[in-house]
Formats: sequence, structure tokens, C-alpha cells
Amino acid sequence: MLLQDKLRAFRKEKRALLATNFYNYETLAGILRAALLKNKPIILQLSESSIKYMGLQTAVAMAKAAVKSAGVEAWLHLDHGSNIDLVKSCLDAGFDSVMIDASEHPFAYNVELTRKVVQLAEPYKACVEAELGYVAKLGQNQEGGGFTSPEDARRFVGETGVHALAVAIGSAHGFYKEPPRLRLELLQDIAEATPIPLVLHGSSGVPEDMLQAAIQHGITKVNLATETKNVFMTKLRSLLTETREIDLRQVFPPAIDEVVSLIASKLDVLDLR
Ligand SMILES: [Zn+2]
Repeated sequence: MLLQDKLRAFRKEKRALLATNFYNYETLAGILRAALLKNKPIILQLSESSIKYMGLQTAVAMAKAAVKSAGVEAWLHLDHGSNIDLVKSCLDAGFDSVMIDASEHPFAYNVELTRKVVQLAEPYKACVEAELGYVAKLGQNQEGGGFTSPEDARRFVGETGVHALAVAIGSAHGFYKEPPRLRLELLQDIAEATPIPLVLHGSSGVPEDMLQAAIQHGITKVNLATETKNVFMTKLRSLLTETREIDLRQVFPPAIDEVVSLIASKLDVLDLR
């Protein structure tokens, strides 16, 4: 099923898909093992920096082969695409879905660029996500404000034809200094203003009940990145202080197991109603 169709169905059912970033073979394998374990569909995300790190063709071929051999329902998505050239190369490489993030630009430019990407993605039958409002990126001030306005969301969706919209409702990328407070009333208003699936970026560290409430109020795609990196690297760091083993195939598996349990528990959280 096309991702845009799956998301639309989930929005109606007040359910959400987990979208999680992978960085290498190990994190990819862990994510897919969790999806298989829980028998849940999942979105695999690549950021521009991960694409640079692995190489576009290598990353795509590896993800597609791993999905096929795991036998899970999964889609490949570009996270925070910054320009149309990158989006085009990802679509050509076989991505199911792309995000164009012009959220830091003025509204009119965001509309214009997003509309271009929607047109570009059309013949590929790919899903397009855009962002409206200020969701702090790594290293940016988390208290930036700039929440998504319901009226802007309604206009933005109408003028671009985008399939999914990332909204700024109080979440931020990276770890939180204090537990975040999502503006659920605002989310509800946005959800009433537009019927398209809404996306929550920066879910690492958002309390479970708040995540579930957000899903009840229109969030249909939950992005997770920071916690995946964190559990993998924290385990790896502790293993490396205990062992002189140089066979990396012996060292990596317990760190992969940490990714499996993290993603499996997130899939459970998303599914509780
Ligand atoms: Zn994000």
C-alpha cells in the first residue's frame, strides 16, 4: 500500500505509524527485527547526513534488501530534505516518501517549494511531507515558540496538496532538558482545520501518555531518532570498556538488541489506546 494511503487510513482510525531513522546496517537490522517481533508496519527514515555517510545507492539497496528479507511492511522516507535536487535523487533511487523542509523560510516560499515537490513526486506515486512552524533542530533553542497556526495549516495544505504535515506543537529535536508539554488543544484545532495526517517530530523523551494523547488528537506519524542513536551508542560504549574483542560481529549484537527493545517498546506505546 502507498504510504500516503496508509497514513490517511490511520488518521481516520486515530492510529500512528512509527518512523525511525537508521544510520548503518546495525540500526537498520535492529529496527526491522522489532517491527517483525511486533508484527507492525514501520517507516525507515534517512536524513541527508546519513545518506552522505552511507552513500545513497548503498543505503537504499541495503534498506530494500533488509525489508524484503524481514518480510515486514515498511516504507523508505527522506527525513528533512532541504532542497529539490536531493528530493529528486531520492525519488529516482526508489524512496516511497520524501520530506521537504522549508519551515525556516517564509510561508509563501514554503508553499512554493512544497508545491513543486508535490508535483515532482506525483509520477513516482510518492508521499510528500512538509513542515509548518518552528520545531527546534539539534542545537537550536527549544523554547523558540513559532507554533503552527490552524489557519496557516489549512491554507498550506490547500495550496500545496501535500500528503502529511509536520506541526510545531511544543516538541523539539534531540533530548529535552525538561519533559516537554505538547499543546494538545492547538493540535486538536489543527486537526480540525485539515484532514491530512499530522506528523510529530522530536518524540524522543516525550512521555508515553502524552504521545498517546497526541495520536488521539491527529498525530499519525511519530518520528524517532535521538533515542535510537542513544541506546545503541550507550550500550556500545559500555561493552567496549569491558572487552578487548576486535571481532565487531561479536561486539555489535548486544547494541543491536538495545535498538530492538527500544523500537519494540515504542511500537507498543503507539498501539495502546
Ligand atoms: Zn525531524
